[in-house]
Amino acid sequence: KKKHFVAQKVKLFRSSDPLLSVLMWGVNHSINELSHVQIPIMLMPDDFKAYSKIKVDNHLFNKENMPSHFKFKEYCPLVFRNLRERFGIDDLDFLNSLTRSAPLNTEAQGRSGARFHTSFDKRYVIKTISSEDVAEMHNILKKYHQFIVECHGNTLLPQFLGMYRLTVDGDETYMIVTRNVFSHRLSVYKKYDLKGSTVAREASDKEKRINKDKYRKQPPPPEDVPPRPKSGNVQQRLQTLRIATRFYCAMKHAKELPTYKDNDFINDGQKIYINEENKKMFLEKLRKDVEFLAQLKLMDYSLLVGIHDVERAEQEEVESEDNEPEEEGESDGGGIGTPPDSPSNTLDSTKPFSPGEFDPAIDVYAIKSNESAPRKEVYFMAVIDILQHYDAKKKAAHAAKTVKHGAGAEISTVNPEQYSKRFYDFITTILS
Ligand code: AMP
Ligand code: AMP
Repeated sequence: KKKHFVAQKVKLFRSSDPLLSVLMWGVNHSINELSHVQIPIMLMPDDFKAYSKIKVDNHLFNKENMPSHFKFKEYCPLVFRNLRERFGIDDLDFLNSLTRSAPLNTEAQGRSGARFHTSFDKRYVIKTISSEDVAEMHNILKKYHQFIVECHGNTLLPQFLGMYRLTVDGDETYMIVTRNVFSHRLSVYKKYDLKGSTVAREASDKEKRINKDKYRKQPPPPEDVPPRPKSGNVQQRLQTLRIATRFYCAMKHAKELPTYKDNDFINDGQKIYINEENKKMFLEKLRKDVEFLAQLKLMDYSLLVGIHDVERAEQEEVESEDNEPEEEGESDGGGIGTPPDSPSNTLDSTKPFSPGEFDPAIDVYAIKSNESAPRKEVYFMAVIDILQHYDAKKKAAHAAKTVKHGAGAEISTVNPEQYSKRFYDFITTILS
């Protein structure tokens, strides 16, 4: 089936960061190309090695918005399109999330200080990864895809949605897009990264200070803010308005948080109050997921946990409305839904929700607290950071130890099987 794309007069992929402009351009290019490629009955082995590449050289053209020279490579385009479909993500909606306004920088940093962005509407997470991670993705992609088919997309593993290489000024940057574990609208006030190991598993003092210094929302640079509707026909203005609404809705709930760890969870006396049925479903999924990871000899992954406190969020909402002088034109985004003649509701994020309610098709990891919980909460829990392979880790550890202690020094690290068991056992204990 062919998709009809809403024609836009001008598409500007403008971000304060040239790399993000290239990402926006590239995703737009890729999804448009794919819309002309027939959906095959089944994927072929070659699809898991395929790529598309494009080189752009502009001369004195559009240099206000884009670097003049750049390259964009997409890995396994058909595989990732198929994965998006299996995860219930429409390509046009995916395109809109990544291109209608620039992705936002976050303070969160990965193992290697990797950069980290979210789409402007907070639905997707864009992570900068290493070339080793890209190689590892290729190693696991066929089995990962098979696993997603078998579980019908019902998993706590990262939902891999697209993988790209961007070349600007001769520098190569690899990026991978996944679904955000947290909600695009419900704010999280506390987050944990859990591994089931208590060695050096607490947030550093530096990390904890984020709460004091950075608790405020960071306003994005003005060029990253989507335009307000001014001109065009009714349809176009509604479209622009919906984009702006998505943006402000996501911004309202954006704040930087420290990442707490296993020991913090234990010392805080933190509890996750979910009912027996949800707990059973969650653990059943987790068990299959970690078995799969152990089979692939992957380890060192984490369970990312975010907690939304319904009352606290309502309180903060009231406070932020009291503090912020209403900006002209901003408030008119609230009450407008999809008009009846709208071609699709894929941009609709203006549906009214009562406090603590969510759309399970978008916030797929959300679980409500049970009846007897002391506070009304919503939990977001999923597995992140799965690309560490045992052999690569051993090699790196061996090299480091050989330098330090000479050849033959023992390498004391658990294997993927042990890691998965310890991880799973720890998670069962935190679900009260
Ligand atoms: P490149 O796209 O050449 O920058 O590759 C980045 C990393 O991914 C390198 O380590 C490659 O070995 C690996 N890689 C790229 N394409 C493939 C492929 N089709 N199959 C396996 N590994 C790949
Ligand atoms: P990582 O680079 O995967 O170790 O991630 C670093 C931090 O980014 C984590 O501790 C999380 O706070 C955040 N993070 C990573 N992946 C996601 C995701 N899919 N959704 C939301 N937050 C994420």
